[in-house]
Amino acid sequence: MLSALALAVSQAPAASQEAPICQRELVVLGAGQDAGAPQIGNADDDGPRLLPSSLAVIDRENGQRFLFDASPAISEQLAMLDAIAPPKDGLGLDGIFLTHAHIGHYLGLAYLGREAAGASNVPVYAMPRMAEFLRTNGPWSQLVSLGNIELREMTADGFVVTSDEFGVLPFSVPHRDEYSETVGFVLMTPDRRAIYLPDIDSWEAFLDQENGEPEALVAGIDYLFVDATFYDDDELPGRDMSKIPHPRVIETMEALKQLTASDHAKVHFIHYNHTNPIRDPDSAESREAKAKGFNIARRGDRFCLD
Ligand SMILES: [Zn+2]
Ligand SMILES: [Zn+2]
Repeated sequence: MLSALALAVSQAPAASQEAPICQRELVVLGAGQDAGAPQIGNADDDGPRLLPSSLAVIDRENGQRFLFDASPAISEQLAMLDAIAPPKDGLGLDGIFLTHAHIGHYLGLAYLGREAAGASNVPVYAMPRMAEFLRTNGPWSQLVSLGNIELREMTADGFVVTSDEFGVLPFSVPHRDEYSETVGFVLMTPDRRAIYLPDIDSWEAFLDQENGEPEALVAGIDYLFVDATFYDDDELPGRDMSKIPHPRVIETMEALKQLTASDHAKVHFIHYNHTNPIRDPDSAESREAKAKGFNIARRGDRFCLD
């Protein structure tokens, strides 16, 4: 799949927290692992606050807004999006694309229900197992039966076209799939492409799926928002981390080290655990990643997709 994206693209602009003048824009609504930070039971954690990973795309030309993952912090994250691009009416959500059924990625759907927004027919794009899980298990099934959400099933490598100017391509990702498949997304506008890949068990398993070398990930795209759950294997003292999946940040940097500087700059580490030192922009590890030319996604980062 990814090799099919190997088209020439021009140099993409860097992240900005200023208001860019663009018709289509990507906003980072959260960059933490599912449980955010401080995590439950860590009241003395005084490090930077993290909301679970989520992206938004604003299409001003078509008056549309899309979410990628519905995190437990969706209320705060949607408020942040509203401040950048106010909704036309209601929640102003033209689609929520779900990667998988782990808590950071779909629990926010609950806030579309009658105890909260009482939303009407918000399109929720889900893979077949994920859609079936939502349809057949409470409280999610009530969102469907009351028409708060409208499930739209995706298929792996099946392009979802939302307008002439925006489309989303889901692709299969190896991950802990108890309740649903796991996918990543290629977000496509006529001018820019971004990959959202917040959770993956290993590069080895992913490359087994005929996605080529790690370099293929960044060929033909402008931005890669990629799983950075753990920095290295020293992060959870007293636990054998060899049993815990997710490519480490140092492993991803090593796998991609032969890329050009402009390709390194496409990489934005996201979905970092509360224990990951890149959570702190001033840590030695954050500085090392930056020195190698990589980026670390931060809540509020904005990217032009024109
Ligand atoms: Zn996750
Ligand atoms: Zn997960």
